[in-house]
Amino acid sequence: MKHALVTGGSGAIGAAICRRLAADGCHVHIHAHRGLEAARTLADAICAGGGSAEALAFDVTDGAAVTAVLTPLLERQTIQILVNNAGIHDDAVFPGMSALQWHRVMDVTVNGFFNVTQPLMMPMMRSRWGRIVNISSIAALTGNRGQVNYAAAKGALNSATKALAQEVASRGITVNAVAPGIIATAMSESAFDAEAIARLVPMKRAGSPEEVADLVGFLASAQASYITGQILSINGGII
Ligand code: NDP
Repeated sequence: MKHALVTGGSGAIGAAICRRLAADGCHVHIHAHRGLEAARTLADAICAGGGSAEALAFDVTDGAAVTAVLTPLLERQTIQILVNNAGIHDDAVFPGMSALQWHRVMDVTVNGFFNVTQPLMMPMMRSRWGRIVNISSIAALTGNRGQVNYAAAKGALNSATKALAQEVASRGITVNAVAPGIIATAMSESAFDAEAIARLVPMKRAGSPEEVADLVGFLASAQASYITGQILSINGGII
């Protein structure tokens, strides 16, 4: 049974990804930060349904805290599937953006990617099979007013995806990013009302977390073995 780690599994999209990977037969390590109870509840639900999962928590920006949790975990088993999904946004038009808003968003997305991914690499490379999926955003591809920090952070994640993909391609490890558009979660509901969604999205609806999870599940599967270094958009037709 392959072990998968999903950061931000306590959130809306992360939870859907955890359910999908568990349904595909993985043992899922459901990560949370402040929402450990939500991650535990999800793990219990997955186990009650015949799947295999457990919850764990750390702040992805705190390298020492990440190491304290991942080191004993990696001594027990190799994580062969990693979904870097934890993310925040903290929007403001750029002239009014504080240094704290800039640094917090960069810290979670960019430094969080490093803190979680780097320790997993050597064991994953030794196993000669791996899947890394980074959850990016359409904001990195098109830009978005009020999201200079978020777009920059997700853009850095896209570039890291491409560079790491080249480093590990010969080891049977793929590294891809998924760039969702508007997905029906609390994160997007505060930013887009129904009128805005109808105007912006050719399909005239938000996507669901499950639709994102299905794409991530495919990228994490054996069938996606020749897809790497890609940024895959999932956005209802926004070109
Ligand atoms: P949620 O706010 O529901 O979930 C965010 C997750 O990130 C939570 O599990 C949260 O943990 C975790 N997290 C936040 N900060 C930290 C931190 N410092 N350390 C560890 N974990 C942290 O968001 P969504 O499910 O909507 O989004 C998931 C991903 O999808 C994000 O990367 C987001 O940028 C991206 N995305 C979302 C879109 C949307 O429309 N919703 C569109 C495009 C991209 P906890 O709650 O336990 O504290």
